[in-house]
Amino acid sequence: MTETFDVLAQRVAGGGVVVLSGAGLSTESGIPDYRGPSGVARRHTPMTYQTFTRDPLARRRYWARSHLGWRLMARAEPNDGHRAVARLQRGGLVDAVITQNVDGLHTAAGSPSVVELHGRLDEVACLGCGNRTSREELDRRLREANPGFDARVAAVNPDGDVDLDDADVAGFRVVDCTFCGGGMLKPDVVFFGETVPAPRVAHCFDLVERARLLLVLGSSLTVMSGRRFVLRAAKRGIPVVIVNQGVTRGDGYAALTVDAPLGRVLPALADRTLGAPPPGSRPGSGAGPVPAGVAAPA
Ligand SMILES: [Zn+2]
Repeated sequence: MTETFDVLAQRVAGGGVVVLSGAGLSTESGIPDYRGPSGVARRHTPMTYQTFTRDPLARRRYWARSHLGWRLMARAEPNDGHRAVARLQRGGLVDAVITQNVDGLHTAAGSPSVVELHGRLDEVACLGCGNRTSREELDRRLREANPGFDARVAAVNPDGDVDLDDADVAGFRVVDCTFCGGGMLKPDVVFFGETVPAPRVAHCFDLVERARLLLVLGSSLTVMSGRRFVLRAAKRGIPVVIVNQGVTRGDGYAALTVDAPLGRVLPALADRTLGAPPPGSRPGSGAGPVPAGVAAPA
């Protein structure tokens, strides 16, 4: 039972770790896979870049739904898993964090530097002039443009996605860029059908190639956008360790897989490799030196 955890701790204690994190790390913060690739609670077809930019009605539906879902997203707080990653990073064992998540929770947890592969949902970009603004500001503008809209739509789903009928959508007013006067606004995240900017990908490959260990946290590695880093590590003989609930598409390349809740394993991992923090400094964690629920090696 604890054998897997011991091996995990030994490997991470050696340092030079690059973390690749995915939606599974944020589910304990109440965030579903918002963007969709790993398929958690995905009930709607994910928005593609092509549909967003070419179909005004689809864009209006997206913003109406997203406007309502945003406050759940904005309320989310980092969990013990994010905080443990930040400790490992500040403690010098983790050299870099690459995340597929768009929720900004690594940074909120205190990670000193994070590469946000798919961008951040709390930033908005103008497709016309490139000006970037905060989602908070857009949220204010959308609320002003749509007085009473929130109250009319009662059915906010717990996963932050929202059911809207056509009448609700038809009455929703989308706002445009004020900087250039009319440019189309888009959340600064990578949609389906869109590619991650090449310099960002190159930077990530560089980080992975310099790693001693690639540690995948909470990603099923379904999409190539993340899986390619596992493939690159494997090709270069860099060991890959995967901590995730459920199987992943990278398991065949992994030196070790740990199937367990990240919010329990990661604090225990940080305690084991860095020493336990002073009592009371880690709120909400009841984890002992060995986490419950760590699966036996397969
Ligand atoms: Zn603009």
